[in-house]
Amino acid sequence: MDEGVVKYRCDWKQAEPVSESEIADLIDWRDRLHSWGLIGVYENGIGFGNVSLRIGNSCQFVISGTQTAHLRAMGPESYCTVTEFNLEQNFLGCQGPVPASSESLTHAVLYLHRKDVGGIIHIHNPQLWQQLLFKIPTTRKEIPYGTPQMAWEMLRLFDEENLADRKILAMAGHEDGIICFGSSLDAAGKVLSAAMG
Ligand SMILES: [Zn+2]
Repeated sequence: MDEGVVKYRCDWKQAEPVSESEIADLIDWRDRLHSWGLIGVYENGIGFGNVSLRIGNSCQFVISGTQTAHLRAMGPESYCTVTEFNLEQNFLGCQGPVPASSESLTHAVLYLHRKDVGGIIHIHNPQLWQQLLFKIPTTRKEIPYGTPQMAWEMLRLFDEENLADRKILAMAGHEDGIICFGSSLDAAGKVLSAAMG
């Protein structure tokens, strides 16, 4: 388990939080997922889960900050805006009151390659993961989370499996880890609810 470890070069500029009205959906969904235990902290103290929202039609997005998974309710001061990224260079630039989630590059690749993605949810749940593994598009076991390889692996799932239609994937190499997405966070949440039955 290596959740929370940043594996990319991160240029974080400390900055004011974005306005609450701009990320109302993000705040709603993040706190809802936390109340369901899909974002939270393992017994060993390691946090899991993160949520992001695309800014307009840009490739920038707002994402929950690193080390915030324990918070029950989370305001704009715990979110960060990803302003630039480069997968080849494994680089990410962000600005906000806290650095971006360590999973941010994985979100970035989806926003970059899929213009129809407006919101992304990454949760952890052992039962759902066991149930969905290899039944939905699944990243290979040897691909570690939070790496550029994971980003390319997700693109493989668009090419070789029906990820564009399913909009949900499991990560075999990242225990309990599931990512879903949609044109909005509500749409992504619907995909998750449907998978949970
Ligand atoms: Zn995770």
